[in-house]
Amino acid sequence: MPSIVTQAIVLRHADYREHDRMLTLLSPAMGRVEAVCRGCKRPQSPLLAASEWFALGEYVLYAGKGRMNVSSCNVTESFFPLRTDYDRLLYATYLLSVAEAAAQPGERAVELFTLLARSLSRLAYTEKDPKAVAAAFLLHFSAISGYRPRLSHCVRCGRRVEDGEIRLMDIENGGLLCGRCQGSLTAARPLTPAQAQWMRDVLEKGIDKTECLPADAPGALLGEYVEARLEKPIRHEGLWES
Ligand SMILES: [Zn+2]
Repeated sequence: MPSIVTQAIVLRHADYREHDRMLTLLSPAMGRVEAVCRGCKRPQSPLLAASEWFALGEYVLYAGKGRMNVSSCNVTESFFPLRTDYDRLLYATYLLSVAEAAAQPGERAVELFTLLARSLSRLAYTEKDPKAVAAAFLLHFSAISGYRPRLSHCVRCGRRVEDGEIRLMDIENGGLLCGRCQGSLTAARPLTPAQAQWMRDVLEKGIDKTECLPADAPGALLGEYVEARLEKPIRHEGLWES
């Protein structure tokens, strides 16, 4: 069986037998991959760094005994500073959970891989507000997954929504509601004009170029929006409060 070489990020690891770990990887070419990392818990194992959460590198995999296995890895990025800042670590771990819930085995995930790697890098190496970085990840994730929220026209009637009438976002239908449609029964959540503008600006220019305030990033709302689309709950205790 020939080996497979792929870039990957470790989304999770679990103990597996005495010296091994089972890794959940995100690969741009292969989507979500479960692979045994044999011997990585032995002292001095060259695979230890490759089996840590957030590790990004070039993994060499082979199929054997009905499983994928890691035979070697060149770790190019460990995002080490995440381990020294509890707050940033929480948001980074949340992004891994979203990626794990979204990625499918055998389905290409090039855009998700790139988005995750860039977002982890912002959390680890910049002073950017971690809440805003995580909210931007959720927003871009929605866009690349085909459910970019509608932020200028009403999702119910299609009418243009003026800033002055923005009060609600319809989670179920994926966008703003105009003044006339706000009374209709729907899974709608409060949204301010500044939050709507933050989402428009970040979609257009990216989190690095937006001049909108991080405080206007609607993280909790976008988290709920993504969970509704994935139809999976994702642990987020304490992330969006305060
Ligand atoms: Zn309407």
